[in-house]
Amino acid sequence: MLQYRDLKNALSELEIKRSDPVIVHASSSLIPQVKGGAQTLLGAILASADNILMPSFTLKTMIIPEVGPEDNLLEYGSGRVENLSASIFTLDLPADFEDQVISELFRHYPDVIRSNHPIFSFLGLGLDAALASQTTAEPYGHIQYLQGKNTKILLADKEPSALFSLHFCEKDSGRKQFVRWAMTENGIIECPFFPGCSNGFHKILFHLGNEVKQTQMQDHTWFAFSLDFLIQTTLQLLHEDPYALLCNDLHCEKCNLTRRDIRQRRR
Ligand SMILES: [Zn+2]
Repeated sequence: MLQYRDLKNALSELEIKRSDPVIVHASSSLIPQVKGGAQTLLGAILASADNILMPSFTLKTMIIPEVGPEDNLLEYGSGRVENLSASIFTLDLPADFEDQVISELFRHYPDVIRSNHPIFSFLGLGLDAALASQTTAEPYGHIQYLQGKNTKILLADKEPSALFSLHFCEKDSGRKQFVRWAMTENGIIECPFFPGCSNGFHKILFHLGNEVKQTQMQDHTWFAFSLDFLIQTTLQLLHEDPYALLCNDLHCEKCNLTRRDIRQRRR
């Protein structure tokens, strides 16, 4: 079993500094391996960094409308039954994504606040201005806000596919974006700049090279790196190779549509 001390040591090996803002992606699969579970894991993270952001995604707010733009990989009108069970986003709606356990624990921690993106909300401690920068119209506003501020990203037993910050780079580089819709207290709203597929994001580790700090926790690797370096490296890469970071699954509809979009733009 991993102890509190092991987690603290790992975070210190990853050079997570108390004063640096940290975007935390922590896997729920870690919890059974830690003595004291999610409480201990969150405790170690909070003891290592003062200012934290963590996803609190609510995918159950999404609905499929009857009509919408083309090339959006949605079968319009197919959600008539499922739409009825969609949740209305409020700041109190529990997260429902794969890492909800630790995210929900963090949400109830004192002074934690939440951004109001109905699908991709983030929780934050000490980063209110960053959270206020994320809106439905600017889903990556908080990532943009945290540039130039020594922000670190922590992947605690998470694959690079969890890197929401890479979706910001995709948008910034002009890569194709999607549109989705979500239920809010103000009715159904359009959520622009919905990201594409992230299954090829592990390819970024090679490009980050020695700037990636890593440590082994039992049979899992934890990674940490600078947000600025990630953004700079990714934008450069996407500029040189617009097909970079797409996945290798020949049947991936999102990546294939993105490739087609790049080819059309190049003509
Ligand atoms: Zn893909």
